Amino acid sequence: MKIITKEIIVETEGNCDIRNISEEVRKYLKESKMKEGSCCVFSIGSTASITTLEYEPGLLKDIPKILEKLIPAYSKYYHNDTWGDNNGHSHLRSAIIGTSLNIPFIKSELILGTWQQIVLIDFDNKKRTRRIAVQLTGE
Ligand code: ZN
Repeated sequence: MKIITKEIIVETEGNCDIRNISEEVRKYLKESKMKEGSCCVFSIGSTASITTLEYEPGLLKDIPKILEKLIPAYSKYYHNDTWGDNNGHSHLRSAIIGTSLNIPFIKSELILGTWQQIVLIDFDNKKRTRRIAVQLTGE
């Protein structure tokens, strides 16, 4: 069994910036020459998330809209009292959606649906440079 760990760097605009990182993940899988196993995609940091989404213009608007209803940017958050960084909502959105995904692969292909892309969502309230760990485990 082999384990290979790589990193993807993404410059984001913050504020629910959604980026499709599927091609970068596929590139690392191809380079690894691994045939079967699982691929962990993990966002390093507590104000961003990794999930899957159909990456199309409607959902890119629907996701920020529904999150604004569930966890509004401007509300009372105790986190903001702790640090004064006003990104309590960013941490909560990240915690609820989650920071990692595990995607199985066979025959060197990720098992993803046709309309299922791997996305990074940056919830912070400012521009960020995001590091995403991609760890392939298998053979
Ligand atoms: Zn914070």
